[in-house]
Amino acid sequence: MRFTHETLPQRVVFARGDAATALAAEIAALGATRVMLIASAREAALVAPITAALPVVLHHDEVVMHVPVEVADRARTAAAAAGVDAILTVGGGSATGLGKAVALASERPGGLPILAVPTTYAGSEATNVWGLTQGTTKSTGVDDAVLPRSIVYDATLLTSLPAELSVASGLNALAHCIDAMWGPRVDPIDQALAGEGIRGLAGGLPVIAREGARQGALVQGIEQTLYGAYLAAVAFASAGSGMHHKICHVLGGMFNLPHAQTHAVVLPHVLAFNAPNAPEAERRIAAAFGSSTAVEGMAALRAAVDAPRALRDYGMPEDGIAEAVAPVLAAIPPDNPTPVTEQNLTALLRAAWEGDPA
Ligand code: NAD
Repeated sequence: MRFTHETLPQRVVFARGDAATALAAEIAALGATRVMLIASAREAALVAPITAALPVVLHHDEVVMHVPVEVADRARTAAAAAGVDAILTVGGGSATGLGKAVALASERPGGLPILAVPTTYAGSEATNVWGLTQGTTKSTGVDDAVLPRSIVYDATLLTSLPAELSVASGLNALAHCIDAMWGPRVDPIDQALAGEGIRGLAGGLPVIAREGARQGALVQGIEQTLYGAYLAAVAFASAGSGMHHKICHVLGGMFNLPHAQTHAVVLPHVLAFNAPNAPEAERRIAAAFGSSTAVEGMAALRAAVDAPRALRDYGMPEDGIAEAVAPVLAAIPPDNPTPVTEQNLTALLRAAWEGDPA
């Protein structure tokens, strides 16, 4: 065996029902006294109780999906004008992403540390990947300056996330685990983390999706899902984007599709496509689901949570299938387990568009 695995330095705090105390401790440990809070106005009710006692000098609430450059520029200008010494993000991947854009551009000596309080399962808080969108083109890059110093997970903050969005977002996290299994830099540590991530997500998500889950059980299900989502992101950041993420990246950019739902629809199709030629990944995924095959485990989870099924339901036009084939083909890593052709990729995209079973 020969591989090199890099572990990113980060504090991870689980503090159910107590984000306020945990955040105060993390900010004190950083020595920060002028905090920029990035949180959308939509999350105001979640934010006020957990930030009231913190040294927040600026609350920036313009948060937009995929971080348009002009939104990032306004946030960067506001941060510089207020002389902030730390960034606190509260929200989903869009809020974390804006925090990363501000940290990336900071000229402050030693950088601008980020503290992240996630309120979805997107997982951006555990990666050193940033994204910015100019017009309809999204660029991403890797820079350790954007890796949050600390994450505070408080499952009670996600009880307000609607079940449908929780399911889509949790399946976005599952996509990190599955794609990590054959990502371009995958190693056995990534696969171990991804397998445990699948266990957490497969255990927690059905509880969240179940109508009428008792409050106590619901919060436990959310916490288990957050644990899975964190592991998923760590595995994915290390292994790199595989076929699944390349497809979703191209489709999302071309047709302005919603991020989490696009992942949720495409995932079972990529799993069914690659599993026959990725026996080690297949074995690990099946074991994590506790099912006889990976595809069966995925199908059972999707049925239990009533997963999103068809890209056409989210605004992708039918002629988009043919339009997407060439850019997707160009982006897929050459060592993908199943060789990709124009023909088999078209069939996969059509099945995802129609909502056929994988
Ligand atoms: P999002 O942050 O846009 O949130 C989706 C919606 O949920 C928003 O309307 C938001 O207001 C609402 N919401 C969030 N938390 C809530 C809560 N607790 N209760 C009620 N409503 C709530 O979407 P997302 O799926 O979390 O993140 C998607 C973005 O993150 C994309 O831009 C994606 O590219 C990026 N992302 C980046 C990475 C990375 O490593 N850099 C990883 C994953 C996702």
